Amino acid sequence: MRAAEGAGAEALHVDVMDGHFVPNISFGPPVIAAIRRVTRLKLDVHLMIAAPERYIEAFAAVGADSLTVHAEATPHLHQVVEQIHAHGVRAGVALNPATPLGMLEEILPDVDLVLLMTVNPGFGGQAFIPSTLPKIARLRQMLDARGLAIPLEVDGGINEETAPLVVAAGATWLVAGSAVFGGGTDGVTARLARLRDLAGAIRA
Ligand code: ZN
Repeated sequence: MRAAEGAGAEALHVDVMDGHFVPNISFGPPVIAAIRRVTRLKLDVHLMIAAPERYIEAFAAVGADSLTVHAEATPHLHQVVEQIHAHGVRAGVALNPATPLGMLEEILPDVDLVLLMTVNPGFGGQAFIPSTLPKIARLRQMLDARGLAIPLEVDGGINEETAPLVVAAGATWLVAGSAVFGGGTDGVTARLARLRDLAGAIRA
């Protein structure tokens, strides 16, 4: 985390997995509280959990700057977004690769960011799903048509090859795990800098 902070990362994206909405289990509020204590970076918390409404208070209390819930994980999406806002936290909505953008139609004006999964959620190190590229472009059109200047975040399989593609399609926040922390001979700083250069080259 310190390396990412030193390398100029804008935020730490934290994946919470419950072994129910996704097969994997990662961690919960106590670990995020510990992360909060050692970094000044914004904590972008991605809740890959079923019935997120049960846990918003707990995750808000440990210092999340944004809480993103999955549209597939709750029948009460609007209510959960209101719940997040009531804690003074930015609210995001995430969609899995096969979930249509139409799920966002009614909630878009109320959210602070939208996250499109570009792999199936649950495990790190997966390959980018190419059919998500036109989906990113269509979401970009939806946001622009509504005059919504909120982040369009993409998560999964983002690396030196895919970063320029998702930026060209209209993504503005790129989540990278393996591409930054996954090893190799060069360090976190060099890898993050290269990703930023590649993404920025397209944006500029
Ligand atoms: Zn995530």
